[in-house]
Amino acid sequence: MKKLDMHDIHFLVDMLGSVDMGLVILDSDFRVQLWNGFMENHSGITWNTVRDNNLFELFPDLPQKWLTQKIDTAITLNTRAFTSWRLRPYLFRFANSRPITGTTSYMYQNVTITPLSEYDGSRNRVCLMIYDVTDVASSRLALEAANQQLAQLSVTDNLTGLLNRGAWEIKLNEEFARCKRYTKHSSLLMLDIDHFKRVNDQYGHPVGDDVIRHLAELLRTCFRSTDFPGRYGGEEFAVVLPETDAEAARIIAERLRQTIADTVVESHGHQLSYSVSIGIACLDSSIATASQWIKTADQALYDAKNGGRNQVCVATLPAPADIAK
Ligand code: GH3
Ligand code: MG
Ligand code: MG
Repeated sequence: MKKLDMHDIHFLVDMLGSVDMGLVILDSDFRVQLWNGFMENHSGITWNTVRDNNLFELFPDLPQKWLTQKIDTAITLNTRAFTSWRLRPYLFRFANSRPITGTTSYMYQNVTITPLSEYDGSRNRVCLMIYDVTDVASSRLALEAANQQLAQLSVTDNLTGLLNRGAWEIKLNEEFARCKRYTKHSSLLMLDIDHFKRVNDQYGHPVGDDVIRHLAELLRTCFRSTDFPGRYGGEEFAVVLPETDAEAARIIAERLRQTIADTVVESHGHQLSYSVSIGIACLDSSIATASQWIKTADQALYDAKNGGRNQVCVATLPAPADIAK
Protein backbone atom coordinates (compact mmCIF):
# COMPACT_ATOMS: atom_id res chain seq x y z
CA MET A 1 0.00 0.00 0.00
CA LYS A 2 1.20 3.46 -0.87
CA LYS A 3 2.46 5.46 2.12
CA LEU A 4 0.49 8.58 2.99
CA ASP A 5 2.32 11.75 2.10
CA MET A 6 1.57 15.27 3.32
CA HIS A 7 -0.66 15.82 0.29
CA ASP A 8 -2.93 12.89 1.25
CA ILE A 9 -3.02 13.98 4.87
CA HIS A 10 -4.11 17.44 3.80
CA PHE A 11 -7.01 15.88 1.86
CA LEU A 12 -8.00 13.73 4.80
CA VAL A 13 -7.98 16.60 7.25
CA ASP A 14 -9.95 18.71 4.82
CA MET A 15 -12.53 15.97 4.44
CA LEU A 16 -12.89 15.41 8.20
CA GLY A 17 -13.29 19.14 8.60
CA SER A 18 -16.15 19.44 6.16
CA VAL A 19 -18.03 16.16 6.69
CA ASP A 20 -21.68 16.67 7.68
CA MET A 21 -21.41 15.19 11.15
CA GLY A 22 -19.67 16.24 14.32
CA LEU A 23 -16.22 14.78 14.98
CA VAL A 24 -14.52 15.30 18.32
CA ILE A 25 -11.38 13.49 19.47
CA LEU A 26 -10.61 13.50 23.18
CA ASP A 27 -7.50 12.37 24.99
CA SER A 28 -7.50 10.50 28.30
CA ASP A 29 -8.03 13.78 30.21
CA PHE A 30 -10.98 14.71 28.00
CA ARG A 31 -8.92 17.42 26.28
CA VAL A 32 -10.09 18.22 22.78
CA GLN A 33 -7.72 16.96 20.05
CA LEU A 34 -10.00 17.40 17.07
CA TRP A 35 -13.03 19.63 16.54
CA ASN A 36 -14.30 19.65 12.99
CA GLY A 37 -16.22 22.22 10.96
CA PHE A 38 -19.60 20.78 11.92
CA MET A 39 -18.78 21.33 15.60
CA GLU A 40 -17.45 24.83 14.91
CA ASN A 41 -20.55 25.82 12.94
CA HIS A 42 -23.13 24.50 15.38
CA SER A 43 -21.42 25.46 18.63
CA GLY A 44 -20.11 28.77 17.36
CA ILE A 45 -16.79 27.90 19.05
CA THR A 46 -13.65 27.61 16.93
CA TRP A 47 -11.04 24.89 16.92
CA ASN A 48 -8.48 27.37 18.24
CA THR A 49 -10.66 28.04 21.29
CA VAL A 50 -11.29 24.42 22.22
CA ARG A 51 -7.88 23.01 21.32
CA ASP A 52 -6.30 21.11 24.26
CA ASN A 53 -9.01 22.33 26.61
CA ASN A 54 -11.05 20.02 28.81
CA LEU A 55 -14.42 19.28 27.17
CA PHE A 56 -16.38 19.47 30.42
CA GLU A 57 -14.89 22.86 31.27
CA LEU A 58 -15.77 24.11 27.81
CA PHE A 59 -19.33 22.72 28.05
CA PRO A 60 -20.42 22.56 31.71
CA ASP A 61 -23.92 21.42 30.67
CA LEU A 62 -22.67 18.11 29.27
CA PRO A 63 -23.74 15.01 31.24
CA GLN A 64 -20.24 14.45 32.60
CA LYS A 65 -20.83 11.35 34.69
CA TRP A 66 -22.78 9.60 31.96
CA LEU A 67 -20.33 10.48 29.16
CA THR A 68 -17.29 9.55 31.25
CA GLN A 69 -18.78 6.15 31.96
CA LYS A 70 -19.62 5.57 28.30
CA ILE A 71 -16.09 6.53 27.24
CA ASP A 72 -14.49 4.34 29.92
CA THR A 73 -16.57 1.36 28.84
CA ALA A 74 -15.76 1.90 25.16
CA ILE A 75 -12.02 2.05 25.94
CA THR A 76 -12.00 -0.88 28.38
CA LEU A 77 -13.99 -3.18 26.11
CA ASN A 78 -12.42 -1.76 22.94
CA THR A 79 -15.83 -1.49 21.39
CA ARG A 80 -18.03 1.27 20.02
CA ALA A 81 -20.71 2.72 22.24
CA PHE A 82 -23.84 4.16 20.73
CA THR A 83 -26.60 6.34 22.07
CA SER A 84 -29.83 7.25 20.34
CA TRP A 85 -31.96 10.41 20.47
CA ARG A 86 -34.69 8.26 22.01
CA LEU A 87 -32.68 7.79 25.20
CA ARG A 88 -30.98 11.18 25.20
CA PRO A 89 -32.30 13.75 22.70
CA TYR A 90 -28.86 15.37 22.32
CA LEU A 91 -25.35 15.42 23.73
CA PHE A 92 -24.42 18.98 22.69
CA ARG A 93 -27.27 21.43 22.92
CA PHE A 94 -27.15 22.88 19.42
CA ALA A 95 -29.95 24.90 17.87
CA ASN A 96 -32.14 23.11 15.36
CA SER A 97 -30.79 24.21 12.02
CA ARG A 98 -33.82 22.86 10.13
CA PRO A 99 -36.62 25.01 11.46
CA ILE A 100 -38.96 24.07 8.60
CA THR A 101 -39.17 20.40 9.50
CA GLY A 102 -38.30 20.87 13.14
CA THR A 103 -40.92 20.92 15.83
CA THR A 104 -38.26 21.52 18.46
CA SER A 105 -35.79 24.29 19.01
CA TYR A 106 -32.78 21.99 19.43
CA MET A 107 -30.95 19.45 17.27
CA TYR A 108 -31.68 15.79 17.96
CA GLN A 109 -28.48 13.72 17.92
CA ASN A 110 -27.32 10.14 17.75
CA VAL A 111 -23.81 9.71 19.09
CA THR A 112 -21.20 7.02 18.53
CA ILE A 113 -18.13 6.77 20.75
CA THR A 114 -15.19 4.94 19.13
CA PRO A 115 -11.94 4.09 20.95
CA LEU A 116 -8.86 4.97 18.86
CA SER A 117 -5.72 2.83 18.76
CA GLU A 118 -2.32 4.51 19.04
CA TYR A 119 0.79 3.39 17.13
CA ASP A 120 1.87 1.29 20.11
CA GLY A 121 -1.55 -0.40 20.35
CA SER A 122 -2.63 1.53 23.46
CA ARG A 123 -6.05 3.06 23.55
CA ASN A 124 -6.34 6.37 25.36
CA ARG A 125 -8.25 8.48 22.93
CA VAL A 126 -11.80 8.34 21.71
CA CYS A 127 -13.65 9.83 18.80
CA LEU A 128 -17.18 11.13 19.32
CA MET A 129 -19.30 11.13 16.18
CA ILE A 130 -22.37 13.32 16.41
CA TYR A 131 -25.14 12.79 13.85
CA ASP A 132 -27.89 15.35 13.30
CA VAL A 133 -31.10 13.25 13.28
CA THR A 134 -33.54 16.12 13.78
CA ASP A 135 -35.48 15.31 10.58
CA VAL A 136 -36.05 11.69 11.49
CA ALA A 137 -36.75 12.37 15.15
CA SER A 138 -39.22 15.18 14.60
CA SER A 139 -41.17 13.35 11.90
CA ARG A 140 -41.23 10.22 14.10
CA LEU A 141 -42.49 12.25 17.06
CA ALA A 142 -45.09 14.03 14.93
CA LEU A 143 -46.34 10.67 13.65
CA GLU A 144 -46.55 9.27 17.17
CA ALA A 145 -48.46 12.33 18.37
CA ALA A 146 -50.88 12.00 15.44
CA ASN A 147 -51.43 8.31 16.18
CA GLN A 148 -52.05 9.06 19.82
CA GLN A 149 -54.58 11.72 18.83
CA LEU A 150 -56.29 9.29 16.46
CA ALA A 151 -56.51 6.62 19.14
CA GLN A 152 -57.98 9.21 21.48
CA LEU A 153 -60.45 10.40 18.82
CA SER A 154 -61.69 6.90 18.20
CA VAL A 155 -62.81 6.54 21.82
CA THR A 156 -64.13 10.02 22.54
CA ASP A 157 -67.24 11.77 21.39
CA ASN A 158 -66.48 14.90 19.38
CA LEU A 159 -69.11 17.18 20.84
CA THR A 160 -68.68 16.37 24.53
CA GLY A 161 -65.27 14.76 24.96
CA LEU A 162 -66.93 11.90 26.89
CA LEU A 163 -66.43 8.26 25.87
CA ASN A 164 -68.34 7.56 22.68
CA ARG A 165 -70.87 4.77 22.58
CA GLY A 166 -68.50 2.08 21.29
CA ALA A 167 -65.80 2.81 23.85
CA TRP A 168 -68.33 3.11 26.66
CA GLU A 169 -69.89 -0.26 25.76
CA ILE A 170 -66.47 -1.92 25.90
CA LYS A 171 -66.04 -0.56 29.44
CA LEU A 172 -69.56 -1.65 30.36
CA ASN A 173 -68.79 -5.20 29.22
CA GLU A 174 -65.62 -5.20 31.34
CA GLU A 175 -67.56 -3.99 34.37
CA PHE A 176 -70.26 -6.59 33.76
CA ALA A 177 -67.67 -9.39 33.61
CA ARG A 178 -65.93 -8.09 36.76
CA CYS A 179 -69.18 -8.00 38.73
CA LYS A 180 -70.40 -11.39 37.54
CA ARG A 181 -67.11 -12.92 38.59
CA TYR A 182 -66.92 -11.31 41.99
CA THR A 183 -70.68 -10.82 42.62
CA LYS A 184 -70.19 -7.10 43.17
CA HIS A 185 -72.76 -4.30 43.24
CA SER A 186 -72.81 -1.99 40.24
CA SER A 187 -75.45 0.41 39.00
CA LEU A 188 -76.18 1.70 35.53
CA LEU A 189 -77.83 5.08 34.92
CA MET A 190 -79.44 5.96 31.58
CA LEU A 191 -80.27 9.66 31.15
CA ASP A 192 -82.27 11.38 28.45
CA ILE A 193 -82.93 15.11 28.14
CA ASP A 194 -86.65 15.90 28.35
CA HIS A 195 -88.36 17.46 25.34
CA PHE A 196 -85.04 18.18 23.72
CA LYS A 197 -86.62 18.62 20.31
CA ARG A 198 -88.29 21.73 21.69
CA VAL A 199 -84.90 23.18 22.68
CA ASN A 200 -83.64 22.76 19.13
CA ASP A 201 -86.88 24.07 17.65
CA GLN A 202 -87.13 27.08 19.92
CA TYR A 203 -83.48 28.19 20.19
CA GLY A 204 -81.70 26.45 17.31
CA HIS A 205 -79.26 23.57 17.00
CA PRO A 206 -76.17 25.41 18.33
CA VAL A 207 -78.00 26.13 21.60
CA GLY A 208 -79.07 22.46 21.70
CA ASP A 209 -75.38 21.53 21.33
CA ASP A 210 -74.50 23.77 24.28
CA VAL A 211 -77.14 22.07 26.44
CA ILE A 212 -75.67 18.67 25.55
CA ARG A 213 -72.18 19.97 26.44
CA HIS A 214 -73.48 21.40 29.70
CA LEU A 215 -74.92 18.03 30.75
CA ALA A 216 -71.72 16.25 29.67
CA GLU A 217 -69.63 18.62 31.79
CA LEU A 218 -71.82 17.93 34.82
CA LEU A 219 -71.46 14.18 34.28
CA ARG A 220 -67.70 14.56 33.96
CA THR A 221 -67.35 16.52 37.18
CA CYS A 222 -69.99 15.25 39.58
CA PHE A 223 -69.08 11.57 39.70
CA ARG A 224 -66.22 9.67 41.31
CA SER A 225 -63.16 8.95 39.17
CA THR A 226 -64.08 5.26 39.09
CA ASP A 227 -67.54 6.00 37.62
CA PHE A 228 -67.63 6.23 33.87
CA PRO A 229 -70.05 8.33 31.85
CA GLY A 230 -70.47 8.06 28.08
CA ARG A 231 -72.55 9.65 25.36
CA TYR A 232 -74.90 6.87 24.40
CA GLY A 233 -76.83 8.66 21.64
CA GLY A 234 -77.91 12.17 20.57
CA GLU A 235 -79.09 13.52 23.95
CA GLU A 236 -78.86 10.25 25.80
CA PHE A 237 -76.10 9.49 28.28
CA ALA A 238 -75.16 6.46 30.34
CA VAL A 239 -73.12 6.25 33.52
CA VAL A 240 -71.84 3.18 35.35
CA LEU A 241 -71.36 3.49 39.10
CA PRO A 242 -69.22 0.57 40.28
CA GLU A 243 -69.60 -0.58 43.89
CA THR A 244 -72.96 1.20 44.15
CA ASP A 245 -76.27 -0.46 45.04
CA ALA A 246 -79.68 0.65 43.77
CA GLU A 247 -80.53 2.85 46.74
CA ALA A 248 -77.18 4.71 46.70
CA ALA A 249 -77.50 5.11 42.93
CA ARG A 250 -81.00 6.53 43.34
CA ILE A 251 -79.77 9.15 45.81
CA ILE A 252 -76.90 10.15 43.49
CA ALA A 253 -79.22 10.29 40.45
CA GLU A 254 -81.81 12.30 42.34
CA ARG A 255 -79.18 14.85 43.39
CA LEU A 256 -78.00 15.11 39.77
CA ARG A 257 -81.54 15.51 38.47
CA GLN A 258 -82.21 18.27 40.99
CA THR A 259 -78.95 20.09 40.12
CA ILE A 260 -79.86 20.04 36.44
CA ALA A 261 -83.42 21.23 37.09
CA ASP A 262 -82.07 24.13 39.19
CA THR A 263 -79.49 25.26 36.61
CA VAL A 264 -79.91 28.00 34.05
CA VAL A 265 -77.83 27.53 30.90
CA GLU A 266 -76.67 30.60 29.01
CA SER A 267 -76.10 30.16 25.32
CA HIS A 268 -76.03 32.50 22.33
CA GLY A 269 -77.79 35.24 24.29
CA HIS A 270 -80.49 32.92 25.64
CA GLN A 271 -81.10 31.70 29.15
CA LEU A 272 -82.86 28.38 29.44
CA SER A 273 -83.55 25.53 31.82
CA TYR A 274 -83.88 21.87 31.02
CA SER A 275 -84.56 18.63 32.82
CA VAL A 276 -83.58 14.99 32.49
CA SER A 277 -85.24 11.67 33.13
CA ILE A 278 -83.07 8.93 34.62
CA GLY A 279 -83.49 5.15 34.67
CA ILE A 280 -81.41 2.97 36.99
CA ALA A 281 -80.63 -0.74 36.92
CA CYS A 282 -78.52 -2.28 39.64
CA LEU A 283 -76.84 -5.47 38.51
CA ASP A 284 -78.21 -8.66 39.99
CA SER A 285 -78.53 -12.34 39.19
CA SER A 286 -81.61 -11.82 36.97
CA ILE A 287 -79.49 -9.85 34.48
CA ALA A 288 -77.65 -12.36 32.31
CA THR A 289 -75.85 -10.14 29.78
CA ALA A 290 -74.50 -6.60 29.49
CA SER A 291 -77.07 -5.75 26.84
CA GLN A 292 -79.82 -6.96 29.16
CA TRP A 293 -78.41 -4.61 31.78
CA ILE A 294 -78.79 -1.71 29.33
CA LYS A 295 -82.30 -2.82 28.36
CA THR A 296 -83.34 -2.95 32.01
CA ALA A 297 -82.03 0.58 32.68
CA ASP A 298 -83.68 1.74 29.45
CA GLN A 299 -87.02 0.34 30.59
CA ALA A 300 -86.66 2.27 33.87
CA LEU A 301 -85.90 5.41 31.83
CA TYR A 302 -89.02 4.78 29.77
CA ASP A 303 -91.02 4.52 33.02
CA ALA A 304 -89.52 7.85 34.19
CA LYS A 305 -90.63 9.47 30.91
CA ASN A 306 -94.12 7.99 31.20
CA GLY A 307 -94.32 9.02 34.83
CA GLY A 308 -94.11 12.66 33.73
CA ARG A 309 -90.36 13.23 33.05
CA ASN A 310 -87.88 15.14 35.27
CA GLN A 311 -87.70 12.14 37.58
CA VAL A 312 -85.66 9.07 38.55
CA CYS A 313 -86.95 5.48 38.26
CA VAL A 314 -85.22 2.37 39.57
CA ALA A 315 -85.89 -0.87 37.68
CA THR A 316 -87.79 -3.42 39.69
CA LEU A 317 -86.13 -6.75 39.17
CA PRO A 318 -87.76 -10.12 39.71
CA ALA A 319 -87.15 -11.60 43.15
CA PRO A 320 -84.53 -14.42 43.11
CA ALA A 321 -87.31 -16.96 43.77
CA ASP A 322 -89.11 -15.90 40.58
CA ILE A 323 -85.99 -16.29 38.41
CA ALA A 324 -85.87 -20.02 39.04
CA LYS A 325 -89.44 -20.44 37.67
P1 GH3 B 1 -88.30 13.11 25.31
O1 GH3 B 1 -88.61 13.92 26.51
O2 GH3 B 1 -89.35 12.08 25.05
O3 GH3 B 1 -86.94 12.53 25.33
O4 GH3 B 1 -88.41 14.13 24.11
P2 GH3 B 1 -87.28 14.58 23.12
O5 GH3 B 1 -87.75 15.80 22.42
O6 GH3 B 1 -86.00 14.72 23.84
O7 GH3 B 1 -87.32 13.38 22.11
P3 GH3 B 1 -86.16 12.60 21.47
O8 GH3 B 1 -85.32 11.99 22.49
O9 GH3 B 1 -86.78 11.67 20.46
O10 GH3 B 1 -85.39 13.73 20.65
C1 GH3 B 1 -84.05 13.81 20.59
C2 GH3 B 1 -83.67 15.00 19.75
O11 GH3 B 1 -82.31 15.31 19.98
C3 GH3 B 1 -83.82 14.77 18.28
C4 GH3 B 1 -82.51 15.24 17.67
O12 GH3 B 1 -82.74 16.20 16.68
C5 GH3 B 1 -81.79 15.91 18.81
N1 GH3 B 1 -80.37 15.69 18.77
C6 GH3 B 1 -79.72 14.52 18.70
N2 GH3 B 1 -78.36 14.72 18.69
C7 GH3 B 1 -78.17 16.05 18.75
C8 GH3 B 1 -77.02 16.88 18.78
O13 GH3 B 1 -75.86 16.44 18.75
N3 GH3 B 1 -77.20 18.23 18.86
C9 GH3 B 1 -78.46 18.76 18.89
N4 GH3 B 1 -78.57 20.08 18.97
N5 GH3 B 1 -79.57 18.01 18.86
C10 GH3 B 1 -79.43 16.67 18.79
MG1 MG C 1 -85.09 13.28 24.96
MG1 MG D 1 -83.62 10.57 23.26
